[in-house]
Amino acid sequence: MELEELKLLQQRVTSLRAEGKYKETIETSQELLKLGLECNDYKSVLIAHLNKAASFYCIGDMEEAFQSIDSYSEVCLQYGDDVDWLSFYNVRFLLYEFQKDYTKAKETLYRTIDIGKKIHKYNIVSNGYSNLSHLFLVEENFEQALEMANLGLEMAKLHKPKSEILETRVKLNMAKSYIGLQKFVESKRIMDEITRSNILDSFIREKSQYYDLLGMWHAKLELYQEAFDAYTNSKQLVESYNDLYLLKTIQEERIKLCDLMNDIEKGYIVQKEYIKLLEDINDRELALTALKLEVKHSIRSFEKKANTDFLTGVFNRNYLESKVSELLNQASDKQENIVCIIIDIDDFKLFNDEYGHLFGDEVIKQVCKACEDILQKDEIIGRFGGDEFVIITNGQSLEEGKNKAMQIDEAIRNIKINNGGESFSITVSMGVADNQKGKITSFQELFHLADIALYEAKNRGKNQIYV
Ligand code: GH3
Ligand code: MG
Repeated sequence: MELEELKLLQQRVTSLRAEGKYKETIETSQELLKLGLECNDYKSVLIAHLNKAASFYCIGDMEEAFQSIDSYSEVCLQYGDDVDWLSFYNVRFLLYEFQKDYTKAKETLYRTIDIGKKIHKYNIVSNGYSNLSHLFLVEENFEQALEMANLGLEMAKLHKPKSEILETRVKLNMAKSYIGLQKFVESKRIMDEITRSNILDSFIREKSQYYDLLGMWHAKLELYQEAFDAYTNSKQLVESYNDLYLLKTIQEERIKLCDLMNDIEKGYIVQKEYIKLLEDINDRELALTALKLEVKHSIRSFEKKANTDFLTGVFNRNYLESKVSELLNQASDKQENIVCIIIDIDDFKLFNDEYGHLFGDEVIKQVCKACEDILQKDEIIGRFGGDEFVIITNGQSLEEGKNKAMQIDEAIRNIKINNGGESFSITVSMGVADNQKGKITSFQELFHLADIALYEAKNRGKNQIYV
């Protein structure tokens, strides 16, 4: 059942991201993460971290993206295979590229290429070289860019079945490298090769890149009108997939060309388009900021919900266990005393049986509230389950813990609950134990000791505290 649920969640996460619904992807990944950890299903954990990382990247929250991908790599170190590592390097590459940290971005590509070769996935190897070539182009290292593109082409040819688009991608980088090297004939030869196959008709992004390149080529040769027309083609294609930042660079080229051609009328039109584009970019950035905040809020409330007992609003058992174990470890290092008090309502079943479950709920809530009123800021309360609560004090002796238990006992004794004119009082039994001078480092051990004391209190006639 749980396995089926996990599979469904995995599919939902993947398809939500494919649809570009990043907020929903992150929220669903969060659910998948929780369930995956509960069931020790590390595939689900990996999928959740990866999709969170990629979605945070898409909404521009790099800090969260890095955190998610770091968590991914921790899990991957233990449970990941080559393909999992490829996904890791893919996202890492995007993040480093965004930060313009080209040295690290290249490192991720070299790793990608190594793994790709190892598992004979030449499409991955070829794309790796293609991305390397792209980074060298950004750095204006055209010799290296050309070399990487050449390697990319070699690898693309090894890929079976033959993939025209794989070859085209590296050829685009090759042609661009040649322009950088002022080898215009070679560059045009490759561009013509690309157009001879009709492959670009099915790949709009690459087609827009092609026209962008053609514009650049004509501009270098001072063929301004042809350059302008090529950029216009590129612009129209990019508009269809709405990459605003790419559009901005294209429009900047078109404005330059209008100046060079002294075409005031056209220049005016392009300027207007450009201003509108800047407004669109601004709007999108505002919307993204709002979305980032919304996602942060949603994650925080999800985590809070996951840690909270729904009836009383105090910590639930799950969170209590991890939080207290953390405290016990710290206390053991610092030789601090930690006291655990377990509180169990006496004959609680009678309330349920005589007056109904809702009345029983009310009793649980009132007992919890009475405890909360007594606790200091750094003392923790959680509902362990049913009619049982756990209180943890930090830095108090066992004797002080017992005093606290007596205060709580008194407060609960003072509760008066009314039901149809009848008034009830409540008594509880409590077990108290401490961490034995730091010897005890897990919640389970400490709880066990306090539970033995609680059993003793019940055994001796209830309505009492046993230390
Ligand atoms: P004892 O004095 O030995 O503690 O006896 P008891 O009747 O309190 O027995 P026990 O602690 O075993 O009973 C707990 C009962 O609490 C059993 C369960 O049906 C009921 N219970 C568990 N969760 C809830 C809840 O959320 N709401 C209500 N109303 N009842 C609950
Ligand atoms: Mg009870």
